[in-house]
Order: sequence, then structure tokens, then C-alpha cells
Amino acid sequence: MKFSDREADLIRSQLKPPFRITRHWAQLLSDDPDDPLRRQVVPSEEEAIIHPFEVPDPLGEEKNSPVPRLIHRYRDRALIITTGVCALYCRYCFRRRLTGHDYGEIESEEIERIVHWLREHPELKELLLSGGDPLSMSEEKIILLVSKIREVRPNLVMRLATRIPIVDPARVKGRLVKQLAEEAPLWVIIQVNHVRELAPEAVRAIRKFQQCGLPVLSQTVLLKGINDDVECLVNLFQSLVTFGVKPYYLFQGDLAEGTGHFRLPLNDARILVDQLRLRLSGLAMPNFALDLPDGGGKVPLTRDYVLGFSSQGWLLQTPDGQQGYYKDVENATVDAN
Ligand SMILES: *Cc1c(COP(=O)(O)O)cnc(C)c1O
Ligand code: SF4
Repeated sequence: MKFSDREADLIRSQLKPPFRITRHWAQLLSDDPDDPLRRQVVPSEEEAIIHPFEVPDPLGEEKNSPVPRLIHRYRDRALIITTGVCALYCRYCFRRRLTGHDYGEIESEEIERIVHWLREHPELKELLLSGGDPLSMSEEKIILLVSKIREVRPNLVMRLATRIPIVDPARVKGRLVKQLAEEAPLWVIIQVNHVRELAPEAVRAIRKFQQCGLPVLSQTVLLKGINDDVECLVNLFQSLVTFGVKPYYLFQGDLAEGTGHFRLPLNDARILVDQLRLRLSGLAMPNFALDLPDGGGKVPLTRDYVLGFSSQGWLLQTPDGQQGYYKDVENATVDAN
């Protein structure tokens, strides 16, 4: 791949996260500056633009962290930042405060502290293994983490959030996948933003998880100039379903510093999502959501299809505009004759 002089200067400068790409990704992208895969990883000068409402920690994760690396924002779910390292750094990364810095990988004592916390919080039902990219760690470290958690919590649902199957599919080794499958229930959630990311190698990596019985879901970040187009997203979500992957979330961009050029105005995003729903099946349609700044939590941005309530019942509207009434038994007046 070729860089312009300006790009080369940026790559050499002190970027956070630094420029990093995999061989696989480099082979997928083109030299067109507007190429959607290129724009996800090649730095631009716009990253220096920081809006007053953008912050280093847009999800307020630091203040919801009872134990180092553990983010606990909901009663029954929590998340671990397993590492700050990724195989490739996305320029829009919302955890750019730590990705590619010296945050490093989770250490044995940190695993012990988290395991101890999990033992004391039996109300927790799901644990997200996030990062950075957990699969950027060594096979030994990944299995150590997952098996230690499993030891204390036999039924805890683990969710492994990773981009490795897409950006560096050769790292998804059969042996690792088999060991992970032994620690089920475990769901794999890949991040994929454009249909061209579903290269044959990536699809084979996904299939390895599926063949071992691990369900694979996906999440997508809505990115201006990259995938903010109905056809583009319809293609992506329909393809994912073809490969047995359930699109789970479509995220509106978080208010992370220097990522404004990737964010779509929320109103445009909502119009786009309404159009998606007309084209996609319930299976192919992800949940559109955003994270409230400062640790407020995820907000599902579903449109309200309930128009009102009257003596005739609930007035409802389908996504394509059909209207009708739905009566609850309690509210129906029964005609005795
Ligand atoms: C996103 C997230 C979750 C999981 O939310 P779901 O809506 O269940 O997918 C849990 N904890 C934290 C801190 C999160 O950011
Ligand atoms: S893979 Fe995730 S954590 Fe890593 S740079 Fe991309 S968005 Fe950030």
C-alpha cells in the first residue's frame, strides 16, 4: 500500500493510538484515499480536531471500575478490558485513551482479583471479554483467563469481543478455538463494518468458531464515509446472516476525542436505520444504539411504532406505514348479547 507524504508524516508522529495494520488488512484495501477499509486505519489530520464535548473516556468507564480492568455498569453484566493491544488500530476507536498505549495485558494478579470479585457477585450473569482485542494475547493467557473465570462461575455467560477473525484471521487457530469451546457458554462477537471485510480467510476463521459450537454475533460502528449508506449496510448485514452470523449491534459513534469526522449526525443516522428496517429481516437487522456519555449506559434507539391509545385500542404502525389497532383483553368492552 502507498502513503501520501502527509500520511507518512502523520504515521511517524506521536499518534494515539499509533498507526498499526495487519498484512491481511493491507491486502484488502486500495490506494484510493476514500477506500472504506483504508479510512478505518490510515490516520488523517482531522484526528487533531477535538470538539469541546469530546472526552478521553466517553463511556465514563474509569469511574465504574470496582476492580482494575473491570467495568461494572449494569447489575447483571460486566466487562473486562483484557488488554490495550489490538492487531490493528481503528482510527475511530472509542477506547483510544488506552488502546496502543502502555496499558498492556491483564496480569495473573489482576485475573485473581477479578475472579475473587466474580465469586462475590453471583448476581452477575454475563461477562464481556473486551479490550483492546483479547485475541491479541497469547493462547496461554487467553485460556488462563477464561478457565479461571469458568472455575468459579460454571454458568456465567462469557462474550468474547474481537476483531481478530476479520483483521488477522490466520491468528484464529483450531487449537485455541477448541479450548475456548470447552469453556462454553461463550459467545463470540466480531466487529465488522464493511462487506469487503468478509474475505474468504475471515469467513473461514468465523466458521472455526461455529464448527466448535460457539455462536458468532457481530457489531458494527456507523462510520461517515465508510458505511453510512443503505445499500452498503444491507449488503453487510445480509452477508453476515449468510455466514451464520447474527448482527447484534449497530453503534452510533461515541464522543471520543478526535473522532468527529467519523460520526454521522444522529438525525441522519436514525433516518438511515429506518430505511434499513424496511430492507432487512428481523434476523439481519441489528439493534441500533449509542452509549450515553459519562457512563450513562447503552440507549437502544428504536423508533416508537406505538402511535397512541384510544377506546379502539392501541394504534400501531408498521415500519412501512401500515396502521392498525390492537386491543388488550382488559380494555375491550364485551358485548353481552
Ligand atoms: C455494552 C456493555 C455491556 C453489554 O450490554 P448489552 O446491551 O447486554 O450488550 C455490559 N457492560 C458494559 C460496561 C458495556 O459497555
Ligand atoms: S479493535 Fe476495537 S479496541 Fe481495537 S482499535 Fe479497533 S475499535 Fe479500538
